[in-house]
Amino acid sequence: VVTDLHGQIELRRDMDSGLNQGPDALLERVDRILREILAAIPHDLGSPLGIGLAVPAPITASTETVFTLPTYYEWGRLQLGEYIAAEFDLPVLVDNAANAAAQGEYLFGAGQGCSSMFYLLMHRGVGGAIVINGGVFRGAHGGAGEAGHMRLELDGPRCGCGNYGCLEAFVGRVAIRERAIRLFKFFGQTEIRGKALEEIKAQDVIDAALEGDERAQEILRDTGRYLGIGILNIMHLFNPELVIVGGSTARAGDLLIAPATEIVRQQVLPSVTREARVMSGELGEDAVAIGAAALALHELFDGSSSRESELVG
Ligand SMILES: [Zn+2]
Repeated sequence: VVTDLHGQIELRRDMDSGLNQGPDALLERVDRILREILAAIPHDLGSPLGIGLAVPAPITASTETVFTLPTYYEWGRLQLGEYIAAEFDLPVLVDNAANAAAQGEYLFGAGQGCSSMFYLLMHRGVGGAIVINGGVFRGAHGGAGEAGHMRLELDGPRCGCGNYGCLEAFVGRVAIRERAIRLFKFFGQTEIRGKALEEIKAQDVIDAALEGDERAQEILRDTGRYLGIGILNIMHLFNPELVIVGGSTARAGDLLIAPATEIVRQQVLPSVTREARVMSGELGEDAVAIGAAALALHELFDGSSSRESELVG
Protein backbone atom coordinates (compact mmCIF):
# COMPACT_ATOMS: atom_id res chain seq x y z
CA VAL A 1 0.00 0.00 0.00
CA VAL A 2 0.91 3.66 -0.31
CA THR A 3 -0.11 5.71 2.73
CA ASP A 4 0.10 9.36 3.66
CA LEU A 5 1.84 10.49 6.84
CA HIS A 6 -1.29 9.73 8.88
CA GLY A 7 -1.40 6.08 7.85
CA GLN A 8 -4.31 6.61 5.45
CA ILE A 9 -4.13 4.23 2.53
CA GLU A 10 -3.98 6.09 -0.78
CA LEU A 11 -3.26 3.15 -3.08
CA ARG A 12 -3.20 -0.60 -2.77
CA ARG A 13 -2.07 -3.52 -4.88
CA ASP A 14 -2.38 -7.19 -3.97
CA MET A 15 -0.18 -10.02 -5.06
CA ASP A 16 0.55 -13.56 -4.02
CA SER A 17 4.08 -13.57 -2.58
CA GLY A 18 5.00 -16.69 -4.56
CA LEU A 19 6.97 -17.81 -1.51
CA ASN A 20 6.70 -21.47 -2.46
CA GLN A 21 8.45 -20.78 -5.80
CA GLY A 22 11.82 -19.91 -4.35
CA PRO A 23 13.79 -16.79 -3.44
CA ASP A 24 14.25 -15.52 -7.01
CA ALA A 25 10.49 -15.58 -7.66
CA LEU A 26 9.92 -13.71 -4.41
CA LEU A 27 12.44 -11.03 -5.33
CA GLU A 28 11.02 -10.66 -8.82
CA ARG A 29 7.47 -10.30 -7.49
CA VAL A 30 8.32 -7.75 -4.83
CA ASP A 31 10.25 -5.77 -7.43
CA ARG A 32 7.33 -5.94 -9.88
CA ILE A 33 4.62 -4.85 -7.44
CA LEU A 34 6.76 -1.99 -6.14
CA ARG A 35 7.31 -0.71 -9.68
CA GLU A 36 3.59 -0.99 -10.33
CA ILE A 37 2.44 0.86 -7.23
CA LEU A 38 5.16 3.53 -7.34
CA ALA A 39 4.28 4.28 -10.95
CA ALA A 40 0.62 4.66 -9.95
CA ILE A 41 1.19 7.41 -7.35
CA PRO A 42 -0.54 10.55 -8.65
CA HIS A 43 1.74 13.61 -8.84
CA ASP A 44 -0.33 15.65 -6.37
CA LEU A 45 0.41 13.12 -3.61
CA GLY A 46 4.08 14.07 -3.62
CA SER A 47 7.00 11.71 -3.89
CA PRO A 48 7.65 8.57 -1.86
CA LEU A 49 9.83 8.92 1.25
CA GLY A 50 10.76 5.34 1.74
CA ILE A 51 9.78 1.70 1.45
CA GLY A 52 8.89 -0.53 4.38
CA LEU A 53 8.85 -4.30 4.01
CA ALA A 54 7.10 -6.58 6.51
CA VAL A 55 8.47 -10.12 6.42
CA PRO A 56 7.71 -13.35 8.28
CA ALA A 57 11.15 -13.46 9.88
CA PRO A 58 12.81 -12.25 13.09
CA ILE A 59 14.57 -8.91 12.69
CA THR A 60 17.12 -8.06 15.36
CA ALA A 61 17.38 -4.30 14.80
CA SER A 62 15.29 -1.66 13.08
CA THR A 63 18.22 -0.97 10.76
CA GLU A 64 18.65 -4.58 9.69
CA THR A 65 17.63 -5.38 6.10
CA VAL A 66 18.95 -8.90 5.68
CA PHE A 67 16.93 -11.78 7.11
CA THR A 68 16.38 -15.53 7.12
CA LEU A 69 12.88 -16.94 6.70
CA PRO A 70 12.39 -19.62 9.39
CA THR A 71 10.06 -21.58 7.09
CA TYR A 72 12.64 -21.52 4.26
CA TYR A 73 15.81 -21.82 6.26
CA GLU A 74 17.62 -23.47 3.34
CA TRP A 75 17.43 -20.24 1.32
CA GLY A 76 19.98 -18.70 3.66
CA ARG A 77 20.11 -14.98 4.33
CA LEU A 78 17.96 -12.93 1.93
CA GLN A 79 19.30 -9.56 0.79
CA LEU A 80 15.84 -8.37 -0.24
CA GLY A 81 16.10 -5.00 1.52
CA GLU A 82 19.46 -4.12 -0.01
CA TYR A 83 18.34 -5.21 -3.45
CA ILE A 84 15.19 -3.08 -3.28
CA ALA A 85 17.11 -0.07 -1.91
CA ALA A 86 19.55 -0.27 -4.83
CA GLU A 87 16.80 -0.73 -7.43
CA PHE A 88 14.55 2.08 -6.23
CA ASP A 89 17.02 4.53 -4.72
CA LEU A 90 14.85 5.02 -1.63
CA PRO A 91 15.46 4.21 2.04
CA VAL A 92 14.23 0.67 2.72
CA LEU A 93 13.26 -0.56 6.17
CA VAL A 94 12.49 -4.15 6.99
CA ASP A 95 10.66 -5.52 9.98
CA ASN A 96 8.90 -8.62 11.17
CA ALA A 97 5.21 -8.70 10.17
CA ALA A 98 3.91 -8.75 13.75
CA ASN A 99 6.25 -5.91 14.71
CA ALA A 100 5.09 -3.90 11.71
CA ALA A 101 1.41 -4.50 12.49
CA ALA A 102 1.98 -3.56 16.13
CA GLN A 103 3.60 -0.30 15.07
CA GLY A 104 0.72 0.37 12.69
CA GLU A 105 -1.83 -0.05 15.51
CA TYR A 106 0.35 1.94 17.89
CA LEU A 107 0.73 4.89 15.54
CA PHE A 108 -2.64 4.93 13.79
CA GLY A 109 -5.01 2.46 15.45
CA ALA A 110 -6.14 0.96 18.73
CA GLY A 111 -2.77 1.39 20.46
CA GLN A 112 -2.49 5.17 20.17
CA GLY A 113 -1.28 6.79 23.37
CA CYS A 114 -0.64 3.45 25.04
CA SER A 115 2.63 3.09 26.97
CA SER A 116 2.90 -0.71 26.80
CA MET A 117 1.04 -3.06 24.52
CA PHE A 118 1.18 -6.58 23.20
CA TYR A 119 0.06 -7.30 19.65
CA LEU A 120 -1.00 -10.80 18.70
CA LEU A 121 -1.04 -11.49 14.96
CA MET A 122 -3.40 -14.35 14.15
CA HIS A 123 -2.91 -15.62 10.63
CA ARG A 124 -1.97 -19.12 9.56
CA GLY A 125 0.72 -18.88 12.19
CA VAL A 126 0.42 -16.85 15.35
CA GLY A 127 2.99 -14.13 15.95
CA GLY A 128 3.33 -11.36 18.45
CA ALA A 129 5.08 -8.11 19.21
CA ILE A 130 5.89 -6.12 22.32
CA VAL A 131 5.69 -2.32 22.08
CA ILE A 132 7.06 -0.25 24.96
CA ASN A 133 6.89 3.54 24.83
CA GLY A 134 6.48 3.43 21.07
CA GLY A 135 9.45 1.16 20.42
CA VAL A 136 9.43 -2.54 19.63
CA PHE A 137 11.21 -4.74 22.15
CA ARG A 138 13.05 -7.31 20.03
CA GLY A 139 15.04 -9.36 22.50
CA ALA A 140 18.58 -10.60 21.94
CA HIS A 141 17.96 -12.21 18.52
CA GLY A 142 14.76 -10.62 17.28
CA GLY A 143 12.57 -13.37 18.68
CA ALA A 144 10.79 -11.46 21.46
CA GLY A 145 7.01 -11.69 21.39
CA GLU A 146 6.77 -15.11 19.70
CA ALA A 147 3.64 -15.78 21.71
CA GLY A 148 2.36 -18.35 19.23
CA HIS A 149 4.92 -20.79 20.52
CA MET A 150 4.29 -20.49 24.22
CA ARG A 151 3.28 -24.00 25.16
CA LEU A 152 -0.06 -24.58 26.80
CA GLU A 153 0.14 -28.37 27.00
CA LEU A 154 3.01 -30.84 27.15
CA ASP A 155 1.30 -33.34 24.88
CA GLY A 156 -1.00 -31.07 22.92
CA PRO A 157 -1.48 -31.01 19.14
CA ARG A 158 1.61 -30.67 16.92
CA CYS A 159 2.56 -27.12 16.07
CA GLY A 160 4.05 -25.84 12.79
CA CYS A 161 7.31 -25.29 14.72
CA GLY A 162 7.65 -28.98 15.51
CA ASN A 163 6.78 -28.74 19.21
CA TYR A 164 3.52 -29.88 20.75
CA GLY A 165 0.79 -27.91 22.46
CA CYS A 166 1.89 -24.39 21.41
CA LEU A 167 -0.73 -21.63 21.44
CA GLU A 168 -0.57 -21.63 17.62
CA ALA A 169 -1.55 -25.29 17.57
CA PHE A 170 -4.78 -24.30 19.38
CA VAL A 171 -5.70 -20.99 17.77
CA GLY A 172 -3.93 -20.92 14.38
CA ARG A 173 -5.99 -21.31 11.21
CA VAL A 174 -5.16 -25.02 10.91
CA ALA A 175 -6.45 -25.58 14.45
CA ILE A 176 -9.71 -23.74 13.75
CA ARG A 177 -10.24 -25.75 10.59
CA GLU A 178 -9.56 -29.08 12.28
CA ARG A 179 -11.71 -28.22 15.30
CA ALA A 180 -14.55 -27.37 12.90
CA ILE A 181 -14.21 -30.60 10.94
CA ARG A 182 -14.29 -32.65 14.17
CA LEU A 183 -17.34 -30.90 15.59
CA PHE A 184 -19.33 -30.88 12.35
CA LYS A 185 -18.56 -34.54 11.73
CA PHE A 186 -19.68 -35.36 15.27
CA PHE A 187 -23.06 -33.82 14.47
CA GLY A 188 -23.22 -35.58 11.10
CA GLN A 189 -22.95 -32.33 9.18
CA THR A 190 -21.10 -32.76 5.87
CA GLU A 191 -20.67 -29.20 4.62
CA ILE A 192 -20.32 -25.59 5.68
CA ARG A 193 -21.67 -22.80 3.49
CA GLY A 194 -22.00 -25.26 0.60
CA LYS A 195 -18.39 -26.50 0.89
CA ALA A 196 -17.54 -30.11 1.70
CA LEU A 197 -15.90 -30.40 5.12
CA GLU A 198 -12.56 -31.51 3.66
CA GLU A 199 -12.46 -28.36 1.51
CA ILE A 200 -13.13 -25.80 4.19
CA LYS A 201 -10.69 -23.23 5.51
CA ALA A 202 -10.67 -21.36 8.79
CA GLN A 203 -12.08 -18.37 6.94
CA ASP A 204 -15.21 -20.38 6.03
CA VAL A 205 -15.75 -21.17 9.70
CA ILE A 206 -15.40 -17.48 10.59
CA ASP A 207 -17.80 -16.48 7.78
CA ALA A 208 -20.35 -19.05 8.94
CA ALA A 209 -20.03 -17.86 12.53
CA LEU A 210 -20.47 -14.23 11.51
CA GLU A 211 -23.58 -15.25 9.58
CA GLY A 212 -25.03 -16.77 12.76
CA ASP A 213 -24.14 -20.47 12.46
CA GLU A 214 -24.17 -21.61 16.09
CA ARG A 215 -21.80 -24.53 15.66
CA ALA A 216 -19.26 -22.32 13.95
CA GLN A 217 -19.68 -19.81 16.77
CA GLU A 218 -19.02 -22.57 19.30
CA ILE A 219 -15.75 -23.36 17.49
CA LEU A 220 -14.67 -19.73 17.76
CA ARG A 221 -15.67 -19.63 21.43
CA ASP A 222 -13.47 -22.68 22.05
CA THR A 223 -10.65 -21.03 20.12
CA GLY A 224 -11.23 -17.85 22.12
CA ARG A 225 -10.82 -19.71 25.40
CA TYR A 226 -7.40 -21.00 24.35
CA LEU A 227 -6.57 -17.52 23.13
CA GLY A 228 -7.59 -16.24 26.57
CA ILE A 229 -5.12 -18.59 28.27
CA GLY A 230 -2.40 -17.37 25.94
CA ILE A 231 -3.25 -13.75 26.73
CA LEU A 232 -3.40 -14.56 30.43
CA ASN A 233 0.19 -15.82 30.23
CA ILE A 234 1.21 -12.67 28.36
CA MET A 235 -0.47 -10.55 31.06
CA HIS A 236 1.37 -12.32 33.84
CA LEU A 237 4.69 -12.15 32.06
CA PHE A 238 4.61 -8.63 30.74
CA ASN A 239 1.61 -6.82 32.28
CA PRO A 240 0.88 -4.64 29.25
CA GLU A 241 -1.68 -1.86 29.36
CA LEU A 242 -3.40 -3.33 26.32
CA VAL A 243 -3.46 -6.52 24.24
CA ILE A 244 -4.51 -6.08 20.61
CA VAL A 245 -5.56 -9.10 18.57
CA GLY A 246 -5.10 -8.70 14.82
CA GLY A 247 -4.64 -10.72 11.63
CA SER A 248 -7.13 -12.53 9.43
CA THR A 249 -8.69 -14.48 12.31
CA ALA A 250 -9.38 -11.34 14.34
CA ARG A 251 -12.22 -10.36 12.03
CA ALA A 252 -14.25 -12.88 14.04
CA GLY A 253 -14.39 -9.98 16.51
CA ASP A 254 -16.22 -10.56 19.77
CA LEU A 255 -17.05 -14.17 18.88
CA LEU A 256 -13.35 -14.76 19.58
CA ILE A 257 -12.34 -11.84 21.79
CA ALA A 258 -15.21 -12.00 24.32
CA PRO A 259 -14.48 -15.56 25.57
CA ALA A 260 -10.76 -14.71 25.64
CA THR A 261 -11.40 -11.59 27.71
CA GLU A 262 -13.65 -13.53 30.06
CA ILE A 263 -10.89 -16.06 30.80
CA VAL A 264 -8.40 -13.26 31.38
CA ARG A 265 -10.72 -11.31 33.70
CA GLN A 266 -11.57 -14.42 35.71
CA GLN A 267 -8.04 -15.69 36.09
CA VAL A 268 -5.61 -12.79 36.01
CA LEU A 269 -3.89 -11.93 39.28
CA PRO A 270 -5.38 -8.77 40.77
CA SER A 271 -1.86 -7.50 41.35
CA VAL A 272 -1.27 -7.65 37.58
CA THR A 273 -4.39 -5.84 36.48
CA ARG A 274 -7.86 -4.99 37.70
CA GLU A 275 -9.13 -4.30 34.25
CA ALA A 276 -7.54 -6.35 31.50
CA ARG A 277 -7.91 -4.58 28.18
CA VAL A 278 -8.10 -6.97 25.25
CA MET A 279 -9.44 -5.78 21.91
CA SER A 280 -9.26 -6.41 18.19
CA GLY A 281 -7.15 -4.02 16.16
CA GLU A 282 -8.70 -1.02 14.45
CA LEU A 283 -6.74 -1.42 11.23
CA GLY A 284 -7.93 -4.97 10.54
CA GLU A 285 -5.88 -6.91 8.06
CA ASP A 286 -4.31 -3.68 6.77
CA ALA A 287 -2.30 -3.34 10.00
CA VAL A 288 0.74 -5.16 8.60
CA ALA A 289 0.88 -3.09 5.40
CA ILE A 290 0.18 0.23 7.15
CA GLY A 291 2.77 -0.67 9.78
CA ALA A 292 5.30 -1.49 7.07
CA ALA A 293 4.69 1.90 5.45
CA ALA A 294 5.04 3.53 8.86
CA LEU A 295 8.53 2.05 9.26
CA ALA A 296 9.67 4.78 6.90
CA LEU A 297 8.27 7.34 9.34
CA HIS A 298 11.15 6.64 11.70
CA GLU A 299 13.48 7.77 8.94
CA LEU A 300 11.43 10.91 8.56
CA PHE A 301 11.33 11.74 12.27
CA ASP A 302 15.03 11.03 12.63
CA GLY A 303 15.65 13.62 9.95
CA SER A 304 14.17 17.12 9.91
CA SER A 305 12.12 16.94 6.73
CA SER A 306 8.47 17.97 7.00
CA ARG A 307 7.41 17.82 3.39
CA GLU A 308 4.12 16.13 2.54
CA SER A 309 5.08 12.84 1.02
CA GLU A 310 4.08 9.24 0.68
CA LEU A 311 5.17 6.03 2.26
CA VAL A 312 5.06 2.67 0.59
CA GLY A 313 4.64 -0.55 2.55
ZN1 LIG B 1 5.02 -23.84 18.06
